[in-house]
Amino acid sequence: MKALAWMGKNTVKVVECPKPKVVEEKDVILKVTGSTVCGSDLHLLHGVVVQLQKGDILGHEFCGVVDDVGSGVTNVKKGDRVVASFQIACGNCYFCKQKLSSQCEKTNSNTIENAMYGGRTAGMFGYSHFTGGFAGGQAEYVRVPYGDVNLLKLPDDVPDEKGLYLSDVLATSWNAVVDTGVNEGDVVAIWGAGPIGQMCVDFAFVQGAKRVIVIDSNWRLDYIKEKYPKAETLDYSKLPRGESVTSKLKEMVDGRGPDVAIECVAGEYAKGWAHYFEILLGFETDTSEIVNEMITSVRNFGRCGITGVYVGFTNHFNIGSLMERGIRLIGNGQAPVHLYWENLLKMIQEGKIDPLKMVSHRVRIDDLEKVYEKFEKKEDGMQKVYVET
Ligand code: NAD
Ligand code: ZN
Ligand code: ZN
Repeated sequence: MKALAWMGKNTVKVVECPKPKVVEEKDVILKVTGSTVCGSDLHLLHGVVVQLQKGDILGHEFCGVVDDVGSGVTNVKKGDRVVASFQIACGNCYFCKQKLSSQCEKTNSNTIENAMYGGRTAGMFGYSHFTGGFAGGQAEYVRVPYGDVNLLKLPDDVPDEKGLYLSDVLATSWNAVVDTGVNEGDVVAIWGAGPIGQMCVDFAFVQGAKRVIVIDSNWRLDYIKEKYPKAETLDYSKLPRGESVTSKLKEMVDGRGPDVAIECVAGEYAKGWAHYFEILLGFETDTSEIVNEMITSVRNFGRCGITGVYVGFTNHFNIGSLMERGIRLIGNGQAPVHLYWENLLKMIQEGKIDPLKMVSHRVRIDDLEKVYEKFEKKEDGMQKVYVET
């Protein structure tokens, strides 16, 4: 079968490899019909967040048709059209019983070395041996462990093109909005106008936000203006000398600042290329500008959520502003997909959200090498892609 494999830092390749087989009795083999590329795949491409091994298959957002099932699978059968969650949950541990599946204790790699992080999160598709070594779904077939738990049937009125994004981006953005606490009448500032930031715009309005302000630069803000006209934009690259994102946000929101701030960028980019090299060299890094920007921008007692991916330790963190002004800083974590996906499916069916707005390109699996190149450089108007398999 064909699959997209990591071949070394900044190199991916479409390769031929063996089709997966049922290994455990709860496994499902899925014939992938649709997949996509996430901002998190870029961190993997760069080898920054975790290091993949040469030949590892990428991809943690995919849907498909059940091709084969193990003897212990009862909820799905051959021929069912389903979407997979990006994390692999057992369905039965302390966290899974509360549907906090991203912290599954059975599939995580909670080793002694990870003790400095206080433990690791659940296993994930296409994410390295650090998260269980599960092959990803940017492939023609994929093995889904605990298939009864990690697959959701798609009803006839929800086509693959819409259902696919229940894997990750919809749950992630919804989690960012509800976990950070967006309430009726709030003014919400969102850093990053990629697919995650875009869906946060829609969800913030679903939750009753009065205003949503998106911070980014370049054409990505033009996309926001076109597809999300209710949102306001702030281009951080065009601020006049002496002005900052914080001062501009205060000016835009009653001199006080927004009620809620949500980070949809990632530590990797937040300080530009110098910061990227610091991470590569393994230095302790300075706090992302964005985290400090969020803390200083929100009103007193405001709430800040981190959904973009961060790793390691940090310094120069504005703890003084956080403490004195009563700011709530929340790590939104990897989104627990199982907690939300049925409700999100309903929102799609009721037309409350339209995931297709963030989809800019439709491609085939053979095009994936080029897609990574363009997605990485933010070229060719590339937002979310739909990879027809
Ligand atoms: P993306 O790469 O498409 O978008 C990131 C955006 O951030 C880009 O538009 C970029 O121009 C912008 N940006 C860069 N520096 C900025 C700055 N200083 N201020 C404002 N904007 C800036 O990525 P995406 O797919 O939208 O994902 C966003 C983040 O969410 C990634 O870090 C991804 O790993 C993470 N993510 C988290 C989860 C989770 O469960 N927590 C799940 C999926 C993705
Ligand atoms: Zn993702
Ligand atoms: Zn579990």
